[in-house]
Amino acid sequence: MSLVVVGSMAFDAIETPFGKSDKIVGGAGTYIAWCASNFTPVKQISVVGGDFPQAELDALTNRKVDLEGVQIKKDEKTFFWSGRYHMDMNTRDTLDTQLNVLANFEPVVPETYQDCDFLMLGNLVPAVQASVIAQMKKRPKLIVMDTMNFWMEIAMDDLRKTISMVDVLMVNDSEARQLSGDYSLVRAAATIMKMGPKYLIIKKGEHGALLFHDNQVFFAPALPLEDVFDPTGAGDTFAGGFMGHLAKTGDISFENMKTAIIVGSAMASYCVERFGTERLREITKADIDNRLAEFVQLVNFDIDLVG
Ligand code: AMP
Repeated sequence: MSLVVVGSMAFDAIETPFGKSDKIVGGAGTYIAWCASNFTPVKQISVVGGDFPQAELDALTNRKVDLEGVQIKKDEKTFFWSGRYHMDMNTRDTLDTQLNVLANFEPVVPETYQDCDFLMLGNLVPAVQASVIAQMKKRPKLIVMDTMNFWMEIAMDDLRKTISMVDVLMVNDSEARQLSGDYSLVRAAATIMKMGPKYLIIKKGEHGALLFHDNQVFFAPALPLEDVFDPTGAGDTFAGGFMGHLAKTGDISFENMKTAIIVGSAMASYCVERFGTERLREITKADIDNRLAEFVQLVNFDIDLVG
């Protein structure tokens, strides 16, 4: 089933305790597209400047990512983000955010995207995410949204409005606490689901992810890895795997969302093995299947209840 992805396409500069990247291609939309295109064709909505490499766009086109909805502003600069990871590789500081083309981005949903069943709103200006929903003539079967603390700090009203329009919200644990004002993730989830989304996914980096719906909760671990090289884009890759699986199967039941979370976690475990999108570009279907099998092993156990 068709998947429309909205999200930033960017240049990133990343520092970890173990290395530093030059300005490399990143962005939430970029990671989602590289990941989700393993499962289903992707129709992308974003904006880049004249400095964004054509070869990067061509590489996505070769992956069956439709770029009709990606605007190229020839005389402007691409969105830039820079971050530094702490020793635990799980927390980071944003060093710089230059919105550039994102500052005045007015997305236009192409006519050929209107058959969309699945809409993934990757991290982006909340009003832009809402504008894409508003332009869909038929409401997609499932709307999933990611966001981050940056937007909570500068655009909370717009963010609350967009959150009220979606089915599934994804945030990390500190963002869930910031959004709800509650330290307990269980209470935070209840508060956030009252804002509109029927499902909430709380990502906890190397500690896995939680899926909340009504009174149910499901937990998926992250794969323990010997080396984590660069966690950037792990959350977006997780989103791409989650949504890619749902769009491929067309099944939006809670049970299938559990599988989708495992798929997202498996894809994210590949993303962090190299800088930027490097690892995502080379993995094959066999690699994905192998890693899914590792997840099955990781969480598989028998228990005899005594008495
Ligand atoms: P993640 O590590 O999954 O949280 O996402 C990292 C990606 O998000 C990077 O490639 C950045 O380019 C992108 N990003 C960072 N800040 C923003 C923002 N304020 N709006 C949109 N994308 C962002």
